[in-house]
Amino acid sequence: MVIPPAAPSAPPPQGGAAGGPAKPVPRRPLGQREQTAWAVLQQVPDPEVPVLSVCDLGIVREVKALDAGVEVVLTPTYSGCPATEVIAQSVHDALAAAGFGPVTVSTRRAPAWTTDWISAEGRRKLRDYGIAPPSGSAAVDDGPRPVAIRIHARGVDCPRCGSAQTERLSAFGSTACKALYRCLSCREPFEHFKPI
Ligand SMILES: [Zn+2]
Repeated sequence: MVIPPAAPSAPPPQGGAAGGPAKPVPRRPLGQREQTAWAVLQQVPDPEVPVLSVCDLGIVREVKALDAGVEVVLTPTYSGCPATEVIAQSVHDALAAAGFGPVTVSTRRAPAWTTDWISAEGRRKLRDYGIAPPSGSAAVDDGPRPVAIRIHARGVDCPRCGSAQTERLSAFGSTACKALYRCLSCREPFEHFKPI
């Protein structure tokens, strides 16, 4: 994959601070059209969580400017997720509308997408939206925290008040990728983007 040097929100870093497995990163500099294409994709929302763009979600693996047109490689989030077709169409339409000419959207299923690919910016947007971001190796580093004894080994913090005292009400929220929780401190229900 390639990382646009000047894009406002780059694709998720591979390897580095996120702690994920290191992946080879091509060193080819991005052309102007590729940078512009990334900027266009930054505006394409995920249909299930519209607060996130497809870039925030980390599913855009590659953007290649061709002599004529542009090629985009997506990795679907959940296999069989009906949103995948919608996303591919949205990506195609956004780039075509931006004047990129023939747009090819292909999918790459390996390596499989995980919620670790959601960018730090995406996690912040989720929390601001009232959805607890997925926990995992790429979870947001909020800096030093007081040590708290949690009921569950991997608790889900309330996105509203930050309390770790939460309970799961249902394994499924408004979509299959989210679970329904309730905060025991502020009493508000919220959704949790399940880590995979
Ligand atoms: Zn709360």
